[in-house]
Amino acid sequence: MVDQREQYQKEALLKRLDDVRRRIDDARERRGGDAPVELVAVSKTHPVEAIKVLYDAGIRSFGESYVQEWQDKAQALPDDIDWHFVGRLQSNKARFVADSVALIHSVDRKSVAKALNRRSDEKVNVLLQVNLALQDTKGGVAAEKLPQLFDLVSRYEGLRVRGLMGMPPYADDPEDNRIYFRRLRKALSDLQDYVERKYPERREILSELSMGMSNDFEVAVEEGATIVRLGTILFGKRVYDD
Ligand SMILES: *Cc1c(COP(=O)(O)O)cnc(C)c1O
Repeated sequence: MVDQREQYQKEALLKRLDDVRRRIDDARERRGGDAPVELVAVSKTHPVEAIKVLYDAGIRSFGESYVQEWQDKAQALPDDIDWHFVGRLQSNKARFVADSVALIHSVDRKSVAKALNRRSDEKVNVLLQVNLALQDTKGGVAAEKLPQLFDLVSRYEGLRVRGLMGMPPYADDPEDNRIYFRRLRKALSDLQDYVERKYPERREILSELSMGMSNDFEVAVEEGATIVRLGTILFGKRVYDD
């Protein structure tokens, strides 16, 4: 049993956040350049009170995986939070997130894109999910299928593809995941080339690389992540999980 009072204690949360921020900065320095890295605090399964502590410390991006849970939390929290939907999306629930989420990380098929599409001035920002190690348990398409998926998704005027998301297999040694992060970066640059040729007006918006979780984010940042998705290292263990 995880002791929740200790896990979500304010001082403990702030110390972990401080630590994570420093480690992201160090990894950014190692990769050179000063491109920013967005920290998305993946708060699925964790309580509103813990989210509020990180919010008060300046975090505005939070990630959720379950539509109902996200809706309940969003209602109880300030409305200047940028919610990121990182979980698998079902077409029948997609319209709920389309309206009020800053970025959807997990578009990998036409039915979901179609369900997210809506007519409004503000487009829905999405990432295409890549299945980096071709695992049955994970969503996403093979990197080679990205041009096809882009063609399908870009037909929907209400969506704007901003980049790619990928999740390597769990590895005890984060170095083992470096090849997957490189693969995702290469997939983005190949897709940029493809889009530049086929849809010249869309090129500049395809720039996000959402990669790196609690066990491997430093390697991901070294390899060019623009967004890291961190849950356990900030909030502690999840009591239930996908
Ligand atoms: C839960 C989840 C995370 C956070 O994972 P941690 O290992 O706890 O950091 C990141 N990305 C996705 C897609 C997730 O579902």
